[in-house]
Amino acid sequence: MTTLRLLSIHAHPDDESSKGAATLARYADEGHDVMVLTCTGGERGSILNPAMDRPDVRDNIIEFRKNEMAKAAEILGITQRWLGYVDSGLPEGDPLPPLPEGSFALADTDEATADVVGVIREFRPHVIITYDENGGYPHPDHIKTHAVSVRAWLRAGDPNFHPEKGQPWVPSKMYYTHGFIKSRFLALHDDFVHRGVPSPYQDHVDNADKWPDLMERVTTRVDAADFFHKRDDALRAHATQIDPNSWWFAVSPEDQRRIWPTEEFELAASRVEVSLPEDDLFAGIDPDHQPENTPGMVSDAARQEYAHSDEVYGTE
Ligand SMILES: [Zn+2]
Repeated sequence: MTTLRLLSIHAHPDDESSKGAATLARYADEGHDVMVLTCTGGERGSILNPAMDRPDVRDNIIEFRKNEMAKAAEILGITQRWLGYVDSGLPEGDPLPPLPEGSFALADTDEATADVVGVIREFRPHVIITYDENGGYPHPDHIKTHAVSVRAWLRAGDPNFHPEKGQPWVPSKMYYTHGFIKSRFLALHDDFVHRGVPSPYQDHVDNADKWPDLMERVTTRVDAADFFHKRDDALRAHATQIDPNSWWFAVSPEDQRRIWPTEEFELAASRVEVSLPEDDLFAGIDPDHQPENTPGMVSDAARQEYAHSDEVYGTE
């Protein structure tokens, strides 16, 4: 088998475990090289697990989150790198407070892009996963992660872009992960209702009209049911961020396999020929051939981000 390489770019430690983790574990298990790039250290994340909300944890949150990330990576069977930026925190209040000085969201986009390009040129991924233009949810670090990932997709193969960051490398495909897929929650909810058991997703369902169903944008469904238990274990490894008694774990891996065995992705850009819908992130990739360095934009959202990238780099 040919080994292919998959790079999944995330804002904070724990995001890799809540967005497409079973897919990462599956490809790693199949012998491919899978790397998670985490843009920030998660320094400003709240402690979301009551059992971990203790002074010794609060005082050493950076260390705790580093250790949690290492544990999650081990469970998923992947490697992980830090990009080295500082968490911006989720601004709350009305009016919203300004973003903290020195945070990732305020970082120079060209510089952050160059840093991501450096990782791409070293790891040479065939496939990149990042967030859609809404960041999965509207955290400024997630939006920034999207912006720098798309720019890195465009520039990693450009020999004139930061040549000090290494030999150009042209990735073949870029996907968006959306975080929450409404159809999935509705399917899980219906199963509870069908069995006559109170559903932990009632709140989601009551507010379902407020969200778009991102299933409309999904191009690629990866069967990852064999790895749902690893995804849950990896999530639990982020003990400061995930309450083990929360709705995250309301449906067993076995029930999820029966109700919704896949993880969903949107092909945002491709430099190789594809046939959609597809069920494999590596479909259409020739590992021995680097594609032409075209923008390759497939999705409307990616096309828009590409247009914005001209503001930074000038029209080509
Ligand atoms: Zn995050």
